[in-house]
Amino acid sequence: MSANRRFRRVVRIGPVHVGTYNDGRGREKHTAACTAPRCGFSTDYDSRAAAELAARTHRCRVR
Ligand SMILES: [Zn+2]
Repeated sequence: MSANRRFRRVVRIGPVHVGTYNDGRGREKHTAACTAPRCGFSTDYDSRAAAELAARTHRCRVR
């Protein structure tokens, strides 16, 4: 686990935030993470498009 994940280009799609970070080996990784308190959805993707798609299609159970 890396302590210096610095997210860039963070956007919000519904309750889900999508951010891009560098994995320390010169590659970009993309994370989609839901901000709803008890949801816990958070997944890493190799492509920005995949992360944004996951954010758009995420259906939060917590209301
Ligand atoms: Zn959620």
